[in-house]
Amino acid sequence: MSASTRTDGLRIPETVTAVREHFESGATRSLSARIRHLHALRAMLTDNEAAFEAALWSDLHKSPAQAQLTELNVVVAEINHTLRHLRRWARPKRGPVPLTLLPGRARLVSEPLGVVLVIAPWNYPVQLLLNPLVGVLAAGNTAVLKPSELAPATASLITRLVPRYFPQGAVRTVEGGVPEATELLAQRFDHIVFTGSGAVGRVVMRAAAEHLTPVTLELGGKSPVWFDNDADLPAVARRLAWAKFTNAGQTCIAPDYVMTTPDRVPALVTALKDAIGDLWGADPRAGREYGRIVNEHQFDRLVGYLGDTDVVIGGEHDRGERYLAPTVVTLPDGGRAAVGPRAAHPVLREEIFGPVLPILPVASAEEAVTVINAWDKPLALYVFTSSPRIRRLFEQHTSSGAVVHNAALVHAAASGLPFGGVGPSGIGAYHGLYSWRSFSHLKPVLAKPLRPDTLGLAQPPFTARGVRLLRRLMRHG
Ligand code: NAD
Repeated sequence: MSASTRTDGLRIPETVTAVREHFESGATRSLSARIRHLHALRAMLTDNEAAFEAALWSDLHKSPAQAQLTELNVVVAEINHTLRHLRRWARPKRGPVPLTLLPGRARLVSEPLGVVLVIAPWNYPVQLLLNPLVGVLAAGNTAVLKPSELAPATASLITRLVPRYFPQGAVRTVEGGVPEATELLAQRFDHIVFTGSGAVGRVVMRAAAEHLTPVTLELGGKSPVWFDNDADLPAVARRLAWAKFTNAGQTCIAPDYVMTTPDRVPALVTALKDAIGDLWGADPRAGREYGRIVNEHQFDRLVGYLGDTDVVIGGEHDRGERYLAPTVVTLPDGGRAAVGPRAAHPVLREEIFGPVLPILPVASAEEAVTVINAWDKPLALYVFTSSPRIRRLFEQHTSSGAVVHNAALVHAAASGLPFGGVGPSGIGAYHGLYSWRSFSHLKPVLAKPLRPDTLGLAQPPFTARGVRLLRRLMRHG
C-alpha cells in the first residue's frame, strides 16, 4: 500500500476533493445540517464510550475515569455549549453605517470557510482532534481529520467510526505520519487547525502559505508557576500535583516548572510528596489512574533529565512499561534563574512534556517575572498567591496564552473562554464562540439604494462646497 492510499481506497488528493465537493454541494450550510452534524458527532462519542476508553487505555494507559474527564466529556460539553448558542451566533447581525453612506443598511453574515484540515497530537488524541471539529462543523464547513499516528488505537477507531456517523462525507480522516501529513499539506484547504509542537507548526505554516490558507496553531512551551501561598499549602500542592502529573505530565498546559523563594522549597516539596501519595498512592505504577509515557524516545528524553538534577520525589522508572513516577527535582547549584535555550540545566531548556517538575528558586516575584519575560511567551501561567498585588504583577507584566490563579489546566474546560497561545505558543484561539469566529468568515453585506444618489458628492467634478461638506461628514465617522 503506497503512503497515499487510504483504507477507504481513496488516495489523499481524492479524499480532499471528495470533501470539497461535499462542501460545494451546499449540504453543510443550513443551520439544520450543522445541528445534525453536531448530534452525529455527539452520538459517535456517546454510542462508543467503551471503545474510546479501551483505545485510550491501549495508547496512553488512560483509565476510563481519565478518558471521560479529560477527553470524551470535554468534547460533549463543547458540543452542548455550541448547540445552546449556535442559533444566536448564526443570526446575521446589523452592521453600523456611517453618516456618509446613508441611506444604506449593513448586515454581518457569517459564512463557512470551506474545507478545514485538523491535525492533532497524541497526548489527548480524542479531545484535540474532535474539539476543533465541533466549531468547524458548527460553522458549516467540511473537514479532513489527521489523527496522530502515535495514538494508533484511537486513530484507527475514529477512522472506522467517522464514515458511519458522517455517511454523506462531511468529515473524512487520513491516518498516517509525516509522509501522509506532508501530502495532505500539499493540498489546498480553506483553514488549517494544527495542535502540536512549534517545530511542526512552522512546517504547517510554510505549507499553508503556498495556498494562502489561514491557520490556527495550538502549540506548546514551558508554562510557569509562581507559588508564594503559604496559607493553604496542602490544597495548593494537590492542585499543582494533579495538574502536572495527570496524563503523566503529557499535557500542553501542564505546569512546566515552579518558581518560589528559596525558604519555601522544603515545605513545598513535603506538601507535593503528600499530595502525590494522596492522588496516586504510594506506588503509582500499581494503580490504574497514572499514565505512561507515549514511547521509548520520549521516555529516554525524560529519564535523561534526572541525571542533571537532584531528584527529591519519585524518579523510579521502567523502560519496558514506559513508566516514570511523578517526579520533583531541584537543581544542584540551586538553579541559576533562567529558562530557555541558554539555561544551565537541560530540564529548563525545553518544554518538559512529562512527569518531571523542577523547582526553581528565585529571590522574588519580580525576579520570576524577569525569568518569564526573558524567553518565549508561554501557553499558560499559573499564580498561586493570596496577594492581589502579586496577581496584578504577573497579569500586567507578563504575556501568556492564559493566566489562572490558584489552579492549573482548568481554563481548557471553559467553553466560553478563548483557548490558545500568543507568540511562539500559538496563533489564534478556539473553543465555543472563538471557534465560531475562527472557522467562519464574517462577511459585511452593505445595501445602498440608487435613490437618493448621495454618492454623487464623492464623485468628480467636485465643488469647493461639496468637498467641505464631505470633509465634515467623513470626519464625523
Ligand atoms: P508534533 O508536532 O510532533 O505532531 C503533531 C501532529 O503533526 C501529528 O499528527 C503528526 O503526525 C504531525 N506531524 C509531525 N511531523 C510532521 C511534519 N513534518 N509535517 C506535517 N505534520 C507532521 O506534536 P506531538 O508530539 O504530537 O505533541 C506534542 C507537542 O504538542 C508539545 O509541544 C505540546 O505542547 C503540543 N501541544 C499543544 C497543545 C495545545 O492545545 N496548544 C495541545 C497538545 C499538545
